[in-house]
Amino acid sequence: MEFEEPQRVTFENLSRLPGLVHGVFTRHGGVSAPPYQSLNVAWNNGDLPDAVRENLKRVKMSLGLEWLVSTPQVHGDVLNFIRAAQGLEDRGGVLLAPPGDALATNSTGLGLLIKVADCQSILLADPQSRIIANIHSGWRGSVANIAGKTVKHLERLGLNTRKTVAGISPSLGPCCAEFINYEREIPEEFWRFRVGPVHFDFRAISRWQLRAAGLAEENIEVAAKCTVCERADYFSYRGEGETGRLASVIGWK
Ligand SMILES: [Zn+2]
Repeated sequence: MEFEEPQRVTFENLSRLPGLVHGVFTRHGGVSAPPYQSLNVAWNNGDLPDAVRENLKRVKMSLGLEWLVSTPQVHGDVLNFIRAAQGLEDRGGVLLAPPGDALATNSTGLGLLIKVADCQSILLADPQSRIIANIHSGWRGSVANIAGKTVKHLERLGLNTRKTVAGISPSLGPCCAEFINYEREIPEEFWRFRVGPVHFDFRAISRWQLRAAGLAEENIEVAAKCTVCERADYFSYRGEGETGRLASVIGWK
């Protein structure tokens, strides 16, 4: 059998933390057939369950983690703090947390999995408290400020915001974030992040929300890759319609 090794985008600030593994996987290196080619990790978009199971196994193996934990994402602002693998349902080798859009833990061996196609995955790690998080933030998540709320919630559990580093995944770029009905859909406080008549810079919005929650400017890294423009390497809902979902994972080894 021949397959391309799954490849992932990593962040310099997160790579510097000993024992931490992370990455936003490209669409390459999996087994799914078009239109999910090839490393699709979503169950509910029409792909074959056996292919998804194999893709998830490859993601887990390439990171060397014991478990992956996922959550049914609903474009809201709910955080699930995962204390242990015990008690969570095992679905095809992946543990299932209750519905939400952010996962956090300070346990070793749990890879927090967020699935994206244009939406941002925001990875957080605090080397002091060892709290890590993975946040799903599409434009609705931006409007709900899930990034800022997650940081504030975790601060109450011991997160040191000044030490926390963050990475924002490849996502819908300002080049393609067109919101024709923005006056109705996008709150006015975001209008200063408008970069064209109806285009917005959601990476800048996330950076601003993380800064407002207490993170230092120099600790926030952004992958300047647009999933719509670069859909040869990433899944893009806007660019393709029916397509796969990329895996974004962070965990302590
Ligand atoms: Zn673009």
